Order: sequence, then C-alpha cells, then structure tokens
Amino acid sequence: MMLDGKVALVTGGTRGIGLATARALAEAGATVVLTGRDEAKAKEAAAAAGAASGLALDVTDAKAVSTLVRGVAKEHGKLDIVVANAGIMEDALLGMIREELVDTTLSTNVAGTLHTVQAAARAMMRKKTGAIVVLASIVGEHGSAGQTVYAASKAAVANIARSAAKELGRSGIRVNAVAPGVIDTDLTSGLTEDAKAENIGKTPLGRLGMPEDVANAIRFLVSDDASFITGQVLGIDGGLVL
Ligand code: NDP
Repeated sequence: MMLDGKVALVTGGTRGIGLATARALAEAGATVVLTGRDEAKAKEAAAAAGAASGLALDVTDAKAVSTLVRGVAKEHGKLDIVVANAGIMEDALLGMIREELVDTTLSTNVAGTLHTVQAAARAMMRKKTGAIVVLASIVGEHGSAGQTVYAASKAAVANIARSAAKELGRSGIRVNAVAPGVIDTDLTSGLTEDAKAENIGKTPLGRLGMPEDVANAIRFLVSDDASFITGQVLGIDGGLVL
C-alpha cells in the first residue's frame, strides 16, 4: 500500500477532516496517531479510524506539542508524516471582533500550526525525510466578509507552509498546504440552508466538499507520489474560487 511502513500524526483527528485524514492514511497502510483536546474522544476516534492510538493534545500549548511529537517519534522509532489539521473558525463582522476571538483564533490556527510544524521538523530532521501538510483555506487566499480574523489566520498558515518548505527542503522534508472550500463538517454546520445553496450554486462541481475529498488530497501530498511537490497551497473546493 501507498503508505506502508510510514508513521503519521494527525492533529485535530477527532472529527471532520482530521478524522477522515487519519482513516485515509491508516487505510493506505500508515501507523497513525491522532489527537484531540479530550483524551476519551481521541481514543474513540482512533478506534473508528483504524489508528494506532488517540492522544490528548491542545495545540496552543507549545511545550505539550513538542513533548507529544517527540514521544510519538520515540515510541514508533520515527515520524514520517504530520498533518497539522487542528483549527477553529468563528465569524464576526469587523465592528464585532472581540480581543478574545483574535487571541483564540490566532493561538489555535497560527501558533498551533507553527508549534506542530516546528516539532515535526525537529523529529524528521535526523532522518532527513518527511512530509508535512497544514490546513489553510480558500478564505485565506481570497478573503471573506465576516471572517477577517479567520482569513488572516489561514493566510498565515499558507505562509507557514511556503516558508517552512524553503527552510526544510534541503533536509528532505516537504511542507504543503491544502486550501479547502466549503466542506461539510461541524465547522460549517452553522451555515444556513440558503448559504449552503448559494455556495453550491457558485461551485462548478455543484456540491459541498466532503471530509474525504480533503483527506484523499492530503494522502497524495504525504505520499512518495508527491516527492517533488513542496511549498504548494492546493485548492480543494470544487472550483468555487474560479
Ligand atoms: P471540525 O470543527 O470538524 O474539527 C476541528 C478539529 O480540530 C477537532 O478534531 C478538534 O478537536 C480540533 N481542535 C480544535 N481546537 C483545537 C486545539 N486547540 N487543540 C487541538 N485540537 C483542536 O473542523 P474541520 O474538520 O472542518 O476543519 C479541520 C481543519 O480544516 C481546520 O483547520 C479548518 O480551519 C480547516 N478548514 C475547514 C474547512 C471546512 O469547510 N470545514 C474549510 C477550510 C479549512 P476537539 O474539539 O476534539 O479537541
């Protein structure tokens, strides 16, 4: 299988895109560790995804991320794949943005992704090989009314991928981002039926994305089939931004 013998870590693997990604990597032969903030939920998700284990991790805690990533690499002898998927989204019009929203969004989406990429790079550096994928968004590339904070955080995530790719390429480590459109998960469950219909109407492929659409692209990006691809931000949006 495509990922036989590989060891993979997926953050935010308890549901949605992270859970589908953990499942896709496990089905492709990888030994997968997934994380979520709640240990019981992480273990339950790991069992559902066919992952080796589910561990508790809050990605805003740099020390916890570093300790967990080091622990996974030690237990499994190496770390080949890291998917920095954990993220949050809360909408607010410019005049309604609270400081707390700025803090939680940036500490989870930007700092959380950065902590994960840093720890992954440290764990992969010794073997001079590895593949990292981070979760950007089409709104990070194109902007979105009512989502200024989230869009800013996802633009930062895309640039974490581009910058880390430049820095880590010589160490054999590839870093890419995926930029999903509207994917049917808990994150977008607040969208009204009208908003969903409007998005579908603007999408050439005529539907919302499913978590598996993103998971399948991530599985490709972390595989050896993508061995000359780094620093890219791959849109997975059914053509929504065209
Ligand atoms: P969900 O809300 O369904 O899942 C989010 C996941 O992130 C959960 O597993 C959650 O775990 C975890 N998480 C949230 N905060 C933290 C934290 N501080 N530390 C650790 N884990 C955390 O979201 P999606 O699956 O829809 O989204 C996954 C990623 O994809 C996000 O980065 C999102 O921004 C991005 N994305 C999603 C799109 C969409 O349309 N759905 C579009 C573009 C990008 P738990 O709550 O169990 O701790």
